[in-house]
Amino acid sequence: MPEHWRYPFLPTASAILEDVNLESLLEDYFYAEARALAISRLETSATRGTIEIEGPPTNDENDIVLGYVISRLVLAATDNQALVNYVALSEALRAEAHLSSETDESLVLFVNKLGIVKVEFNGTDFDMNFVDYVRAASKLREGDWKLSNRGVSKGIVNLDRNTLIRLMREVIRQHLEELPKAPSEIKNRFEGTIEDLKSQVSKTFTERIGGLNTVVSDRQAEAMKELGRFDLSKAPPCFNLNLMDLQAGVNLPHPSRFFITTFLSSLNQDPEAVMRLFATAPDFKEAFTRYQVEHISGKTSGTQYSSPKCDTLVSSGVCPGPNALCRQIRHPLSYYRVMAESEKDPKDRMERILLATINKETYPKKLIERNIQNIGDFDFVYNEVKKRKLSEAFSSKSVSQINAKINHFQGRVYSVDLPNEDKKMWITKATVSVTDGNTDFDCLSLTDWKVALPIEEAHYKSKKMDLIVKPFEIDLDKGETRKLFLILDTVDES
Ligand code: SF4
Repeated sequence: MPEHWRYPFLPTASAILEDVNLESLLEDYFYAEARALAISRLETSATRGTIEIEGPPTNDENDIVLGYVISRLVLAATDNQALVNYVALSEALRAEAHLSSETDESLVLFVNKLGIVKVEFNGTDFDMNFVDYVRAASKLREGDWKLSNRGVSKGIVNLDRNTLIRLMREVIRQHLEELPKAPSEIKNRFEGTIEDLKSQVSKTFTERIGGLNTVVSDRQAEAMKELGRFDLSKAPPCFNLNLMDLQAGVNLPHPSRFFITTFLSSLNQDPEAVMRLFATAPDFKEAFTRYQVEHISGKTSGTQYSSPKCDTLVSSGVCPGPNALCRQIRHPLSYYRVMAESEKDPKDRMERILLATINKETYPKKLIERNIQNIGDFDFVYNEVKKRKLSEAFSSKSVSQINAKINHFQGRVYSVDLPNEDKKMWITKATVSVTDGNTDFDCLSLTDWKVALPIEEAHYKSKKMDLIVKPFEIDLDKGETRKLFLILDTVDES
């Protein structure tokens, strides 16, 4: 029988819980040692990615198993998936180290007692059903884990000892990442609801739980600090989503890591800062990650790999699905650049809005100059804003807050030939009109997609929203003038 102090997550270890009730486990001095071991398990996992708990005679086997159960209860109460993932990997690494010293027969016994995959010893190697193998290795990307590289004979995959032990690390990690609402052993013996159970646990461990959550958020914040002037609010959904996964302790597949590295390198982020970002991943290996990041960013290879296009990111599963701006661009770096519109000089911003609204093929120099002169020095800054009805805001000379429905939204990429230059100016714009239910009001084209994206979402959901607007009289050429709203901002409902 495998020793439970080494593998406390084995179903057979729960026999130790006979006659133990939750209250005494959390409060009784008799279990103080088990509680201390639980905290040690969690704290070293969160801070160093290891579990350093010695077996008998230093620690009693029952205390170790009960400590493990308490640590699962604390994890359930913290509700922090990043912490769960860090601990799952630390537990799996600890078990892997112990498995390396087992005999071949004990190794088989352990795998089959765990009950997730089955294995048989054939005298030399280990045989595993290919279905079990595929399930166990599904998230292993680096190395020869594909079934086609392994060779299958009559539905059986043949594994050497080291491969089986590495595979079991993965099986244990995945198993422990799926944190049950509470360990089933406890749940079966506990009368109350899961919420009662969680609150009992957090009552006892409040301070420690707070401390653990802080360790995780500190690790994440530290990584983001390294990114210097990188502006997350301009990043496309593919970047943000993968970054969120990374920070939640999810081990990202290779295409996602490659994308994050090349994307940040293209935006002149220091390879060291990119490296620190990956340090939040549960399977972080400094030397290996450094090699990869420095190679991809060109520091050691001399070739800076470029960030993949949207098409590639879609086919490799990195893209979570496009938003309204994504539909106008083909590369995530274009997304980042388009989102920087509001950082442009106010005069250039106004020129681009006017060009996008007037919509001529060749730069209409005189018309733009006339309009800029009429508008005067408007710098897009507003201080005092009065709430007004749409019709009142339309007649007002100042900035207003209105509540309106988005009647029309259409994104488009517009280009205009520049005078005396052999190039075009490209503008990603959105045409928008708003309504109070009776009258429709057209707006100047939107070029700031930090504003355009929430407007598109409200339009999609047919929801009313609060907007900051100011009307302007625009000369559209050939004697045609029209009053149009300039949308300066959206107002967050919260
Ligand atoms: S469409 Fe392109 S930019 Fe948008 S989320 Fe997908 S990959 Fe990223």
